[in-house]
Amino acid sequence: MAEVRVSGVSKRFGGVTAVDAVTLTFADGGFFGLLGPSGSGKTTLLRLIAGFEFPDAGALDIGGAPVARIPVERRRIGMVFQNYALFPNMSVAENIGFGLRVAGLGPAERRQKIAAALALVRLEDFGARRPHQLSGGQRQRVALARAIVTGPKVLLLDEPLSALDKSLREEMQVELKRIQREIGITTIFVTHDQEEALTLSDRIGILRDGKLVEEGPPETLYTRPSSRFAAEFLGAANIFEGQAGDGALTLKDGTVLRHDGGAVPLVAVRPENIVVGEAPPEGWNIVRAHLTGRLFSGATAALRLDFQGREIRATIAGAQPLAHAPGAALTLAFAPEHTVPLAE
Ligand code: ATP
Repeated sequence: MAEVRVSGVSKRFGGVTAVDAVTLTFADGGFFGLLGPSGSGKTTLLRLIAGFEFPDAGALDIGGAPVARIPVERRRIGMVFQNYALFPNMSVAENIGFGLRVAGLGPAERRQKIAAALALVRLEDFGARRPHQLSGGQRQRVALARAIVTGPKVLLLDEPLSALDKSLREEMQVELKRIQREIGITTIFVTHDQEEALTLSDRIGILRDGKLVEEGPPETLYTRPSSRFAAEFLGAANIFEGQAGDGALTLKDGTVLRHDGGAVPLVAVRPENIVVGEAPPEGWNIVRAHLTGRLFSGATAALRLDFQGREIRATIAGAQPLAHAPGAALTLAFAPEHTVPLAE
């Protein structure tokens, strides 16, 4: 297996800078999620690592060896595309064995490796079928088996689960994680699904306009983002702006919000960290806001409130009674440690 290093890599298409001076290390054996809105450069970065594109600037190393100018077939990469790209006229076993045949392996060795790959993705009895005789989830498994059967150093996945419906997707997330752990391969996957990135990755990088905005473990990026973009992109966030003081933000109306950062112009508070209508513990931040709506969704309910002309969202337990009518003034409280300082 191998560590992948991208240093100052840029790629332009005409007037568009698809990837803009990105520097990132993908740890050996790690599961890295590349997240970002449409057009942020995720696929281009993956294609640069694969070797389908060459960078205009910067360096690319796989397992310590420079590969920026080495073609795709010599990089020892396994790739799964969004649409799987299986050969329709070949059986499952032939699809999986294609790369082995190209690599010049004999029939006995091919059979043994194909059987092992089929067992890994739990499709032992499906080798003779054609792709059109498989479900979407099974096709996904075949694509995965085909990508890893040749023993690549790095596995690249481009929106691998986006064609599946929700329940199948969740099942395949668990499978993907299991397979990745079992073979311990360095894996980089592209998604625009925040929850999927949080579930699967042990590190996440957020891209915007070709630039890396932030990078880190999912829990850290979610609970302690350092930019407004990451805070809002990775889940819902209430942003408060004001006058920066050391560890305190003063809002226009004079309300002071305490936090554990330095002097910053913005703070973010997650909806689930807001306590509504109860006497708050000593030292918590408090704002008064007017209820505008309540959306019940079973386990939780989302409250919408107006705070000085801006919307605030708070999540409460679905079962929590709320006697207040729209327009009622409510006390919202949140702990200083849940008041996240943002640099920009
Ligand atoms: P999506 O989530 O929609 O797939 P993405 O984050 O993967 O988006 P990219 O596909 O990497 O984004 O595209 C980044 C930018 O580069 C976009 O503006 C896109 O139009 C442009 N781009 C990508 N590939 C090419 C190409 N071959 N020729 C011209 N422009 C391209």
